[in-house]
Amino acid sequence: MPVPLAIAAGAVAGVATLGGVVGLTVWAVRKTAAASRASSSTSTPTRGSTMASPSAQPKPMNAMSLLQPRFRSVLEAVLGDLRAQGFQPKVFETVRSAERQRWLYENTKSTLTPELGKHGEGLAADVIDGRPHPTRPGQIIGWGTWNTRSDATPGDDVAKRMADDFFQAFGRAAVARGLTWGGNWASFKDFPHVELDVDPGVA
Ligand SMILES: [Zn+2]
Repeated sequence: MPVPLAIAAGAVAGVATLGGVVGLTVWAVRKTAAASRASSSTSTPTRGSTMASPSAQPKPMNAMSLLQPRFRSVLEAVLGDLRAQGFQPKVFETVRSAERQRWLYENTKSTLTPELGKHGEGLAADVIDGRPHPTRPGQIIGWGTWNTRSDATPGDDVAKRMADDFFQAFGRAAVARGLTWGGNWASFKDFPHVELDVDPGVA
């Protein structure tokens, strides 16, 4: 059924973050939001919308060298654990700039805060499944959310199950080495996310 474009843009932004697939879908959201603003200067349904930057999404940084040394060494050990099990972990993001955090907050809305948090301190990383997608040449499994696409195939269901296995193994290895795993969070399960709690009790 037809819906006002501004509402459609908000709905897309909400859905885009449900599976933790911000990195994959955010471009589509960005385009929709831009179209919405172009069509109506008064479409400001939720937080952040009035401040939305017209700039493109700042690229994630994934260099391990940007991390604090103690967290980096633990994370490298976790990645080694996974490789020993036959996985191919891919570090998607390590340190996040304030500019990128602000962009993600303003353009995805539902799960991120304006504060930088552990990514800004070099104490968090997001790791995805770097194995090749079983039926999509040239693609990696990544977040495993291929099965939510409108053109999903049975191979995408296989990829989702492979990703589930990967993230469970990732969580086990991370927790075993003392990291906090986002997959254990109650309110929003962030399966690719791990962080080091340097001072428990202090956010
Ligand atoms: Zn993260």
